[in-house]
Amino acid sequence: MGLLSFLFAASARSQVDFQQVEYSPRATDFKFVAAPDAKRVVLNIYDSGAGGRLLKSKKMKLDKLSQQWKVRVKGNLAGTFYTINVLKDGKWYGETPGVFAQAVGINGQRGAIISLDDTDPVGWNVDKRPALASPSDLVIYEMHHRDFSVSPTSSIKNKGKFLALTEPRAISHLTTLGINAVHILPSFDYASVDESQLEKPQYNWGYDPLNYNVPEGSYSTDPADPKCRINEFKQMVQALHKAGIRVILDVVYNHTFDIEGSAFQRTWPDYYYRKTADGQYSNGSGCGNETASDKAWMRKFIIESVKYWANEYHIDGFRFDLMAVHDIETMNLVRKELDKIDPSIFIYGEGWSAGSCAYPEDKLAFKANVTEMPCIAAFSDEIRDALRGPWNDDSQGAFIVGLKDNEESLKYGIAGCIDHPQIDMTKVNYSKKAWAKEPQQAIAYVSCHDDMCLVDRLKASKKGITEAELIRLDLLAQTAVFTSQGIPFMLSGEEMLRTKQGVHNSYNSPDAINQLDWDNLKRYPQVFNYYKGLISMRRNHPAFRLGSADLVRKHLEFLPTSDCLVAFRINGSPKGDTWKNITVVLNSADHPQSVSIPQGKYTVVCCDGIINENGIETIETDQIEVDPQTAIIMWNVE
Ligand code: CA
Repeated sequence: MGLLSFLFAASARSQVDFQQVEYSPRATDFKFVAAPDAKRVVLNIYDSGAGGRLLKSKKMKLDKLSQQWKVRVKGNLAGTFYTINVLKDGKWYGETPGVFAQAVGINGQRGAIISLDDTDPVGWNVDKRPALASPSDLVIYEMHHRDFSVSPTSSIKNKGKFLALTEPRAISHLTTLGINAVHILPSFDYASVDESQLEKPQYNWGYDPLNYNVPEGSYSTDPADPKCRINEFKQMVQALHKAGIRVILDVVYNHTFDIEGSAFQRTWPDYYYRKTADGQYSNGSGCGNETASDKAWMRKFIIESVKYWANEYHIDGFRFDLMAVHDIETMNLVRKELDKIDPSIFIYGEGWSAGSCAYPEDKLAFKANVTEMPCIAAFSDEIRDALRGPWNDDSQGAFIVGLKDNEESLKYGIAGCIDHPQIDMTKVNYSKKAWAKEPQQAIAYVSCHDDMCLVDRLKASKKGITEAELIRLDLLAQTAVFTSQGIPFMLSGEEMLRTKQGVHNSYNSPDAINQLDWDNLKRYPQVFNYYKGLISMRRNHPAFRLGSADLVRKHLEFLPTSDCLVAFRINGSPKGDTWKNITVVLNSADHPQSVSIPQGKYTVVCCDGIINENGIETIETDQIEVDPQTAIIMWNVE
């Protein structure tokens, strides 16, 4: 890599204001945001990402205008590593690569001096986001790199690695299933897996952020090579994009792994965290700390970080962990800045926190405040818990195990959490007021990485459930999700009837608990085929994804039903759908139930756990009887 290409690298890539390491073969300029009232800030240069030799130390100088500490180091630093150390109030806060390291050594303790140009796979310059006309067209598949590929049954070579998602086995599984977006669990550099001990069994979801702007080392084939993880992450994005699959990153700006060791604390002590009135660290994340998005540099950090992932890694969407720890203004600014890059970049998050935050609730990005955040979505715990039961009691079931009084919450979820004249909000489980202005602001789901997976929840909430019954109820639950006007979201492995052996919080459970058993595809082909059928039907029929609250109110009509029964029609052929008056009936009772429908001739496309878009049978009736624990979907031929 010669001088010219480094210079071009600097000019072609979008600049990050926050922290810069500007390399040239003659000298490197370091610019870091650090405490303006620090007594000293020292830069260290090492020959290795861990251990090794200290090559030199330099005092940095504060540039008051840019609020950055700066120093120029002469000589060719390519291939070396750096840290800074801040002295404030008589205390050295400890070495850190800074808050915005773009490349790091093993275990993320030191920044690395590389050219990002060296990390681009062949053809990266022509990599493109798969087309997306509307966010309501998304079908999201939430996955963990290790869960997905680590089992010997996966036939995937790069087990637990970013590269797994470049292999034909993985890609063809996803494209056959029909999803068009993967939501990857935290894939930035996190703290809890020791990257120097990968021969030992280690597992973590990754909600313990270390370096927010570098891929995680343990998912690369060589965590000691700073370029490797960046290159392999990009190869993954490129392969998924070629297959028409978008990549959504799970981002966890609301807290850090710890306070003392974090780059935030080590560069600007106490600035980035919220404190309570009595001076304690606030803990709205439930993880011991909470960041302060309302403060100028923290807000800027979040915005620059998502922009960096969108520009440098071509990321297509962001899922904000505990979004309600962040303030509304920050979230709207994130939206505004990403719109400038590509308005199809999707943003959603958990519209709750895990404890009370040291900031006014009405200014935080809670689900109830989604109306103030256009084009940002939140998870609907209403539909999730209406289907499977409450989050705080695994043994308690709901609609799918045949318990009544969940129908209204389910209907609310099916309508996409918007105001709908037929939904009685006084009977909805968690919200007394519709919180979504548009249906694509609601994520419809029945399970995610948190809590039990669907199979385990069914076993826990219905004593003595048989395997046949479990499959029926599993398919029934997902029928509600994939026919919802919200954005459907599924946990990876549900299509293989995954189990986590009853483990509720499997964040650091061994592979034996978390891994998918790919042999289940042979054991339960009807499950995969049904999921595939649901997704295909949704993607082929725009009536299931109207994408506008007005259209939902105009076309979606709920039919009168009894307990444990929800039925709706999508009247007419909205958005040019080739089917007319699509009718969906969900019966969770252990006996057949009937629904009155307008007299007509109908083609049944889903019944008794089978989906066939070409039609299973055609019937002429004004009454439809639905078998126990199943769904029927049909449409009006005449
Ligand atoms: Ca790591």
